[in-house]
Amino acid sequence: MLNFNNKLVEIKNLIINAKNIFIASHIQPDGDNLGSLLGLGLGLKELNNNINMIKVDDIPKDYTFLPKINELKEFSTDVKADLFIALDCGDIDRLGYAKEIAINSNNIINIDHHKTNTMFGAFNFVFPGISSTGEIVFEFLKSLDIEVTKDIATALYTAISTDTGSFIYSNTTSRTYEIAGELIDKNIDLNEIVVNVYQSKSLEGTKLYIDSLNTLEFNFDSKVTTIYVTKEMIENNDASWDDTEGLVNFARDIENVELACLFKEYKENEIKISMRSKKYVNVSKIAEVFNGGGHIRAAGCTVYDNLENAKIKIFKEIEKYI
Ligand code: AMP
Ligand code: MN
Ligand code: MN
Repeated sequence: MLNFNNKLVEIKNLIINAKNIFIASHIQPDGDNLGSLLGLGLGLKELNNNINMIKVDDIPKDYTFLPKINELKEFSTDVKADLFIALDCGDIDRLGYAKEIAINSNNIINIDHHKTNTMFGAFNFVFPGISSTGEIVFEFLKSLDIEVTKDIATALYTAISTDTGSFIYSNTTSRTYEIAGELIDKNIDLNEIVVNVYQSKSLEGTKLYIDSLNTLEFNFDSKVTTIYVTKEMIENNDASWDDTEGLVNFARDIENVELACLFKEYKENEIKISMRSKKYVNVSKIAEVFNGGGHIRAAGCTVYDNLENAKIKIFKEIEKYI
């Protein structure tokens, strides 16, 4: 069980007495942030009937099956939040436009598992060793004696499953499995989660995979792979950026590869880089050099330069660790 720094009574009172509560997570959503947002939002309704879940970005198609996902709403940045809860955000800028609402709120609770977290809340429940924000939210709800319903369990299972790469990454612990077991006991539809999240790649997305896999290159004695996706490739295949999800794993999962980099050319001079490692390179250290962040085995950043220079800059950092 996680220790919420003996702040639980204070936090529970804060939640119960808040005039309103706004909850948000990061832009470019993933399973962990959408799952933990829904899990916490639905759970806290037991304590407070003015819960608002903020939609900060478009929801990727894979996650539209999540129960009550339509309860996520866009808000004006003028709203006055009494209590703001940020989930799965290493820094406040990750909130997109919801950052304004957070800054103007009376109190921020920051719940996260990124090692690079900047502790921007009045209360910071940051546990870098925990697999996912979904796992922390589960422990948080339990600590507050809130019932985990089937809908909450579906959301949290999705969060934990996606951030652990289906329970195979090194952030997976026996506690992660125990929690997954408790969630399954809530009678969730595991098959529906698996098919929606892992087995629903669109034809366009599949064609994009083929194109980008053709850009695969081996560097540093074949220990580092790179793969590209350009805006043109997205357009040619009628695909979207969401379709790049999981692509970097392909480049990582080749034998003897330690580190894989996916370069996404959003614009000519705006390259988003996703990095994954296997055994010894701490990719969050590399991402931090470019104002990004993440975890030891999965991190990201943006380099404001062209594709060629972005690669040169990243390689200069990789060289130090490989
Ligand atoms: P991604 O490669 O986008 O799937 O991200 C991998 C991990 O790094 C996730 O935990 C992200 O939250 C984190 N991450 C990605 N991009 C950034 C960024 N620009 N700043 C901080 N963290 C990031
Ligand atoms: Mn996330
Ligand atoms: Mn996460």
